[in-house]
Amino acid sequence: MTNIAHYINGQLTASTSGRSQDVFNPATGEVTHQVALASEAEVDAAIAAAKAAWSSWAAQPVLRRARIMDKFKYIVNERAQELAEAISAQHGKTVDDALGEVTRGVEVVEFATSAPSFMKGEFSENVGSGVDSHMIRQPLGVVAGITPFNFPAMVPMWMFPVALVTGNCFILKPSERDPSASLLLAQWLTEAGLPDGVFNVVQGDKLAVDRLLTHEDISAVSFVGSTPIAKYIHQTGTAHGKRVQALGGAKNHMVIMPDADLDMAASALMGAAYGSAGERCMAISVAVPVTDAVADALIERLVPQIEALKIGPASDPSSEMGPLVTQDAVARVNDYVTRGEAQGAKVVLDGRGFTQNKQGYEKGFFVGGTLLDNVTEEMDCYRDEIFGPVLSVVRKKSYQEAVDLIHGHNYANGTAIFTRDGDAARSFAQDIEVGMVGVNVPIPVPMAFHSFGGWKDSLFGEHHMHGMEGVRFYTRIKTTTIRWPSGMRSDPQFTMPTLG
Ligand code: NAD
Repeated sequence: MTNIAHYINGQLTASTSGRSQDVFNPATGEVTHQVALASEAEVDAAIAAAKAAWSSWAAQPVLRRARIMDKFKYIVNERAQELAEAISAQHGKTVDDALGEVTRGVEVVEFATSAPSFMKGEFSENVGSGVDSHMIRQPLGVVAGITPFNFPAMVPMWMFPVALVTGNCFILKPSERDPSASLLLAQWLTEAGLPDGVFNVVQGDKLAVDRLLTHEDISAVSFVGSTPIAKYIHQTGTAHGKRVQALGGAKNHMVIMPDADLDMAASALMGAAYGSAGERCMAISVAVPVTDAVADALIERLVPQIEALKIGPASDPSSEMGPLVTQDAVARVNDYVTRGEAQGAKVVLDGRGFTQNKQGYEKGFFVGGTLLDNVTEEMDCYRDEIFGPVLSVVRKKSYQEAVDLIHGHNYANGTAIFTRDGDAARSFAQDIEVGMVGVNVPIPVPMAFHSFGGWKDSLFGEHHMHGMEGVRFYTRIKTTTIRWPSGMRSDPQFTMPTLG
């Protein structure tokens, strides 16, 4: 069985920690690899390599760094199929979906290639007599990224292209559930011309994360994952003097107004709720039809489409939805459905008993598409993020009730409204207390040149990811004020300098 190693100082580096964990093919249920779990000494070695590489990397002209990103972009695009297949084999999502993930990641690399423009500073002439002032952005040093299982290529690519192009060195700690994509990205960065030590991967668990959070040579930490861990990362990292952006979990609502095109809304819900088996932080997990008539009409449209979902392994190109990532994830999803039923939800379609009949895949981690109706605010299946193919319908009588429902939830990552009413759409977009909003768009993931992030318990820290927010996160500003001797006063000045 292959061991999945670290990538330190431009080399695949076998682990010596003696600790490892099983990696599964979720479609078959088989263990395919062992991933190394780093010791503190291995994390230290990666940080030391990055620290040694930093000053000469930071001193490179920004255009040279951007050109390396450009070459990397071409490599990833050329080998997108290989990367997508590596993702599908450990995550379980369909290859087409994995290709979509790769595309969205590459868009951030593309954004990073424009660094010579966004790294330009500001200059003011004559801020005082004979005095000029300029502002520049400088990198932070060695920064770390800790990423979740559900986007093993895209989420790291939300972080490292911007971090690297702005002159930082990077340590990636990917999810231990689907770690192979990280090594392809690392090798391709080296191939694109990135100097050794500038990008490193340490495979690992809490031990590696804690070392990164507390090590004095780490300047900043980017995290994406579940909310309890995001909160922990933010508290621990900031307590150790680091800049931290920690993106957490989600419960995304889609409001369907009485005037919406219901066929369009139902079709949007199918992709947003069941795509990637619901394992997306921007998945719609709550449908909020306004009025019972809308709810009934929507469910009537959804049921046949959910029943017709093609659930199968990523290797079958006809599959629309793959398995969940682990058996634990299956048990967790099923438990939420069971508790929802016990707490009064109506199970319209039940994915708990789903069996995969395709030969060789009977032991895969599959769950069927599930639809719960009459879900209410206090139920666990509503309050918590389920992260599976379960759509809950919460019926509301008015637009205001729907907005109040969303405002009552702790998560505020994404949301959407489906309507033909411009007034309702505009009010929703303006007033809703959620970080990313869609109007007739079910998964409003911002493009790479905008920034991604939620509000409330979906993000801890001040900065969203990628776009100019990413640039702000990975740089600090320096402002220099310059006077040449010809304008210098001869007497000492003890008062606050002013224009006079
Ligand atoms: P997770 O929180 O379990 O793991 C994320 C990372 O944290 C992994 O690298 C993991 O090794 C590490 N980790 C786990 N437990 C830890 C601990 N006790 N101490 C230190 N580190 C720990 O998340 P996941 O299950 O891999 O991913 C799914 C979650 O990520 C969902 O909640 C989803 O909503 C969220 N997510 C959020 C966004 C977003 O942009 N807000 C995007 C993708 C995923």
